[in-house]
Parts: sequence; structure tokens; C-alpha cells
Amino acid sequence: MMEKTDIKSLDFLALQAEIERIGEKKFRAKQMYEWMHKHLVRSFDEMTNLSAAFREKCKNEYEFTALTLLREQESKIDGTKKFLFQLADGNVVESVWMKYKHGNSVCISSQVGCRMGCKFCASTIGGLVRNLKPSEMLDQIYAITRLTGERVSNVVVMGTGEPLDNYDNLLVFIRMLTDENGLHISQRNITVSTCGLVPKMYALAEERLQITLALSLHATTDEKRQKLMPIANKYSIDELMPACKNYADLTGRRITFEYSMVKGVNDSQEDLRELTELARPLGCHVNLIPVNPIKERDFVAPDMQYVYSFKEKLEKNKVKVTVRREMGRDIDGACGQLRRRHMEE
Ligand code: SAH
Repeated sequence: MMEKTDIKSLDFLALQAEIERIGEKKFRAKQMYEWMHKHLVRSFDEMTNLSAAFREKCKNEYEFTALTLLREQESKIDGTKKFLFQLADGNVVESVWMKYKHGNSVCISSQVGCRMGCKFCASTIGGLVRNLKPSEMLDQIYAITRLTGERVSNVVVMGTGEPLDNYDNLLVFIRMLTDENGLHISQRNITVSTCGLVPKMYALAEERLQITLALSLHATTDEKRQKLMPIANKYSIDELMPACKNYADLTGRRITFEYSMVKGVNDSQEDLRELTELARPLGCHVNLIPVNPIKERDFVAPDMQYVYSFKEKLEKNKVKVTVRREMGRDIDGACGQLRRRHMEE
């Protein structure tokens, strides 16, 4: 049997072409796009201004993705919610909803599992299962919007997976998320986080998008970085920094360095000096994340007082820095922990 076209992964122009191909009027594409990506319906039957005959034709012709909610956890500390969703093929992904004063933010997964192997990360333990399709990335945001009844204003691609390892689908996803016929989220409110796939960082810069690129740096020398992140064996810091500079130059957007602090591994005063030297020339914003311990590894975070003194010293060195608020630690907040627990059970 031929696989059906995944209609929710077609961007607006592709949907128009497809609708014309099956002999329907072009304006139907706009109606359908709005049903799927603005009104967030979960089936063709909800598209009430299409004829019954046309809806039947669509059901035969297309796959219509939707997620099944398996589990929802709400943090008693800060209202953060974690969702575990099942995909059509039975795989599960997790997404996080965070409420801030300036709006609601959703953190989505870009792959089922991950093949990058970062030592402190729970998402990578079972390896990569498969890429998520554009529709499946969008569906996480759509399902959460429906479940919370609140508008999402910011999207961060920082859940399970390496987004630049799923590059083509990521770009379609961004195009669709920012489309005026859909949720119309501003590019400036989207952040993509990468462990540092250098060639893909150059490719992304060429797209001239206004999204924020975050680099998971986590260590300031290749030797130290290799102990935490296998990808550091492939791309050196001497290759990463020019890739960051190029992104900033071509897009005018400031890069963020993510720096997960691990006690006794990357939190020395020497690390602080080296981090300053990497961040300052690029005008990078540093986001310090006290490492969230996972039970499979024995990494621990420095105490918070130390983290804040590290922050203050970076500020004295004229580096822009924030400490990531610890959202939802009481609900398996760290990347991939909820999915792992589900799989173990
Ligand atoms: N693959 C992408 C995005 C996913 S991870 C990347 O590497 O950037 C999002 C961020 O959380 C990354 O900076 C990652 O290194 C970090 N992270 C993962 N597990 C963590 C943990 N247990 N504690 C602290 N940070 C973690």
C-alpha cells in the first residue's frame, strides 16, 4: 500500500499545489490550512465549510496526524506542565509548557530519541528512533494550546532530539508555525538549540531567519567538552566559534550559549575565564543551567550560591548572563526524563 500524504506537513504553498492537483479550487487550500493550523481541528470532519464529499475524498487521500495525550504533570512549584504524547506509530514524545509573565512558552521535541549521546542527557540513552515530521512538531504546540486553552507565544526547540539533525523538517515546521494563515508566531519568538552541528549552522544562517540560535557549549576546551558531548570529537571549538559569528553576522541575531553547570567538571574559575573569552567577542548571551541530575549518571550541580557567584563574575567581565529558572524540577523537568520513565514502566 502506498503511504498517504501527511497533509499537516504541507506548508501553505505545497497545500495549494496539492489541492489543485486533486482538481479542487485553490481557495480551498486556504480554508483547509486555517482549519488545521489556526483553528487546530483534529479531523477533516471538523472542517464544516467543506462538502461531505470532499471531506470523504480527503480522508481517503491523506493522513491526518493528531497526538494522544498519555500523561500530564503539573508542577506545584511554578505551574509548569509536562505532557507525554503518543504518535500515530506508538512512539512517545514529551513537551513542556511554561508560563512566564511575558507569555506562554512551549518546549518541543524534534526527534524520537537522539543520537548525539550527551552524557548528562536522558533523551539520548536509547539512541535515535526516528525524526519527527513537521506535523508532529506542530501537533505538540497545537495539542498544548487546546489542552491549556491559552495562546502560545514562544516556542523553544529544546526538548528531545537534535533539531539540526532533522534539518529539512525543522525548516518546514518553522515556516508553517510563522505563516500568517496559521498560528503566526513571530520568528523572534522561536529558539532552536543545537549541540553544534557546524555545517548545519552555516546552512541555517543562509536562511536569514530571525530565530534565536542557542549553542549547547557546556565546556570551554575541546578536551573538557569531549568528556560531556561526543559531538565535540567531530567539531572543535575553533570551528564552532566562526560558525556562531557567521550566524550572528548574517542574521543580526545574538547567539545564546547554553552552559549546563556540572560540579567539579566545568565550574572552575579557569572555566569562568575561558567562557568569558569565548562569549565576549561574539556578544553572546550565556544561559547557565545547573545540571539536572538524572538517575543514570552521577553528575551533580554546584550549589545555587556558587552558580550565582559564577553569574556575577561573568557580569563583571561584561558578559550578558542569566541563570535558567529551574522550572518543574518536581515533575521530571530534565530533558527526556518523563519519556524514559514511561518506557521503563
Ligand atoms: N539537541 C539540542 C537540544 C536539546 S537539549 C542541544 O543539544 O542543544 C536542550 C538543552 O538542555 C541543551 O543545552 C542540553 O545540553 C541541555 N540538557 C540536557 N539534559 C540536561 C540535564 N540533565 N541538565 C541540564 N541541561 C541538560
